[in-house]
Amino acid sequence: MEARLRTEGLVRRFRGETVVDGIDLAVAPGKVTCLLGPSGCGKSTTLRIIAGVDRQDAGCVWLNGEVVSDDTRHLPPEARGVGLMFQDFALFPHLTVAQNVAFGLPKRQAAGARVAELLAKVDLTGYDDKHPHELSGGEQQRVALARALAPRPRVMLMDEPFSGLDNRLRDGIRDATLAVLKEEGTAVLLVTHEPDEAMRMADEIALMRGGKIVQQAAPYNIYNAPIDPAAAAFFSDIN
Ligand code: ADP
Ligand code: MG
Repeated sequence: MEARLRTEGLVRRFRGETVVDGIDLAVAPGKVTCLLGPSGCGKSTTLRIIAGVDRQDAGCVWLNGEVVSDDTRHLPPEARGVGLMFQDFALFPHLTVAQNVAFGLPKRQAAGARVAELLAKVDLTGYDDKHPHELSGGEQQRVALARALAPRPRVMLMDEPFSGLDNRLRDGIRDATLAVLKEEGTAVLLVTHEPDEAMRMADEIALMRGGKIVQQAAPYNIYNAPIDPAAAAFFSDIN
């Protein structure tokens, strides 16, 4: 199937140092690829380039079959049709849950049905009129997911979206998030430094180190047949 998201040869340098060093990725509709690696290996920079909030020094980004960024072209983030979720979910504190979810929808569109549908999907039916400060961290995260999905992005970019959550909640939220993303058929690129999160959520793991993807495979295969000692070490503390 045609990839919803594709990159070829992405390179990014900061002050002469190459932090993203030739990244090739492809994510098909309804699939989750996890960009997994230690802190500082270039995951967030890669995601920011795909989102359009940063620009590569070389390489190309396609979204939905269209070049959105290369040497001569650079679409702004809002023209890329991607949903974004970061660790700091940053709901608008003065808006209600329903207003937060409807925020990205065109004003002329009747938002009510879509908001109700999404609140049901994230199991927050009846929360419409509450404000963010009345919600738990996990509930806020689910509102943020509903908000990101409201305009029906075909690609979702997520950077450590669960790392602010309580350990006890995290697995449940991961599973619930994954279920909603699968139901919507969204192609997902999820950045994480936690192997267990990648094992739980990914269809494919791209293991990244020093700006490069060192191995890319299904979770089971990468766990059982790590390509080198450093890859093996990265998974050794999962049981
Ligand atoms: P990760 O998300 O994997 O932890 P990042 O992509 O945030 O890694 O960062 C990769 C490297 O690039 C780090 O060494 C970081 O300090 C550096 N870096 C990231 N953004 C900038 C920037 N805007 N200016 C200078 N260096 C940066
Ligand atoms: Mg990061």
